[in-house]
Parts: sequence; structure tokens; C-alpha cells
Amino acid sequence: MNMDAVDLVKDAPADPQEALAAALFRPMGVDGVYARTGVYENVVERLAALITRHRPEDAEVLRFPPVMSRRDLEKSGYLNSFPNLLGCVCALHGSVADIQDAVRRFEAGGSWTTSLSPADLVLSPAACYPVYPLAAARGAMPRGGWRFDIACDCFRHEPSRDLDRLQSFRMREFVCIGQPDDILAFRTRWIERGRELAAALGLDADIAPANDPFFGREGRMKAVSQIQQALKFELLVPIHSAERPTACMSFNYHRDHFGTTWGIHDEDGAVAHTGCVAFGMDRLAVAMFARHGVDIGGWPRAVRELLGL
Ligand code: 5GP
Ligand code: ZN
Repeated sequence: MNMDAVDLVKDAPADPQEALAAALFRPMGVDGVYARTGVYENVVERLAALITRHRPEDAEVLRFPPVMSRRDLEKSGYLNSFPNLLGCVCALHGSVADIQDAVRRFEAGGSWTTSLSPADLVLSPAACYPVYPLAAARGAMPRGGWRFDIACDCFRHEPSRDLDRLQSFRMREFVCIGQPDDILAFRTRWIERGRELAAALGLDADIAPANDPFFGREGRMKAVSQIQQALKFELLVPIHSAERPTACMSFNYHRDHFGTTWGIHDEDGAVAHTGCVAFGMDRLAVAMFARHGVDIGGWPRAVRELLGL
């Protein structure tokens, strides 16, 4: 063994997460917020193209910015369920003098942020919230309902050093708005397809009933009820360990929650039901590197062919 090799062994990160982080991300000074390397981004793009090939035929494509109307998110009930995760856009709203005051305070070593007040925007915590008011504004839902293919950069305020828990991450969704039977059939189809996609990607995935991390004591009740009513399933992949697998896709049935909130009705006045399948693009990509290694050349041939790598 020559000296270079000794140095390489000494410098190699012992923790597999650190080795992954070194290959996939660059730090930006905040836990859970990273610059993405070209190697990583290429895989995210290939996964996105694979998902596009499975897009429901009649789906309308929309790409949302990372912010949405604060009022729309408030009306959706988000604050009742996940107030702790929400990020709100704030700005310096006062007069020129007020704003200059804040800057001078900062330059003198004080705080400028005490002068901030909320703008009419929040950081989108999931891709599908903006789609329901948009659909409602179109009037009566046609027979057969609507399907959407949407994507968004999402924010959830839960700083962590785990690579599969980012504060800023990409979410892709197929959303179904229709009659209850349409939604349940859509979700059943997608649970099966999600399982097949994961298997084709060489991931060891399981589907399991799940609940959202509802906030506070009342949240416990909501979580139990969500499980009892089988409203959410997740595709779980062992990124860290088999005991603590990571949700890389979710399959959600919202019943009439968004239909009632936004007044989405069919021509006979029946309230619409909704559901969505969400793909955690960053989690899927991290799962691929955790499973197959950071050297894409060493990935199984079938997986590389599927992704066009
Ligand atoms: P859900 O709305 O079901 O919580 O999230 C939908 C999907 O987004 C999850 O299945 C997961 O793949 C992804 N996701 C949720 N939270 C995080 C996170 O903290 N980091 C990353 N990278 N993805 C997340
Ligand atoms: Zn959704």
C-alpha cells in the first residue's frame, strides 16, 4: 500500500451518510438545505422522466412555483394540522424610513428581522394544495373528473442532518378529482404501479398504511383516525435501516375535504372527492444512491437501461 492509498482510506468518511452527502450534495450552511451535484441531479431528472412515462393519459400538466397564496393554504386547513412545519414569506413592508431603520439596525449589529411582517405568500408544503382552488374556479366538474400532473419545490420546517429529511425538497404528484370510486380505483392502481416501479429500480420497497405527523395532542387522534380509515399508504424504502424505512411515495385519499373546502361539485351538485399519489423526488434519488452506490457505472444494467443512464 503506498502513501496515497493510506491517505485515501484515512480520509474516506466512515459514516455511509457522510459518503453519500459528499457525492450528492454541497453544504449551504443550514441543515436540510443543500446544493445538488450534477451526478445527483441527473438521476433526479431520469426519475422524473420515468414518472412522466407513467402519467395518466388525460392528465393536465402544471408546474407550480415554490410559493403559494397564504390565504389559500389557510383555507385548506393546514394550520389545524401542521402549523409547526409551515414556512411563511416575510418582507419589510413599512415606509422607506421604516425599511432604512431596519437596515441601519442590522448594520449597527442589531436585528433587522424584528421589522419583518408576513407577505401574502407561504412556502408550499406539498405540491397539490394550489390545484384544488384552481379546479374549483372552472365550474362544474365534468363526468370522469379531472387528472393533474403537478410538481413543486416544497418546504417543511423540520431541520435535520438526515439526507432523507430535507427542509427544501422536490415533490411530483398525480392528482385525481372525481367520484369516490374513481379516487379509490386511481389509488389502488397507483399503489400497485408504485410497487412495480420501485422493484424495477432495484429498491426493496414495502407498502404500508401511514399517518401524517399531525401537530399536538389532538393530532394523535387525527393520526389514529387516518390509519383506521385507510386514508394514507406509503411506499417505504430502507435507506438507513430496515427497522426505520423512509417514505418515498405516498398514496392519499382526502375524501371530500378539498371538494367541500373549495366547493368542487359535479353537474348534479355532488361534492367531488380527491386523492393524490406523491413522489418524493429527492428521497427516491437518495434511495437509489444508498441502494446501488455513488458510482452509477456500477448500478445494475437493467436499472441503468430503465433510466437511460
Ligand atoms: P407527504 O405529503 O405524504 O408527507 O409527502 C409526500 C412525499 O414527499 C413523501 O412520501 C416523501 O417522499 C416526500 N417527503 C416528505 N417529507 C420529506 C422530507 O423531509 N425530505 C424529503 N427529501 N422528502 C420528503
Ligand atoms: Zn397531494
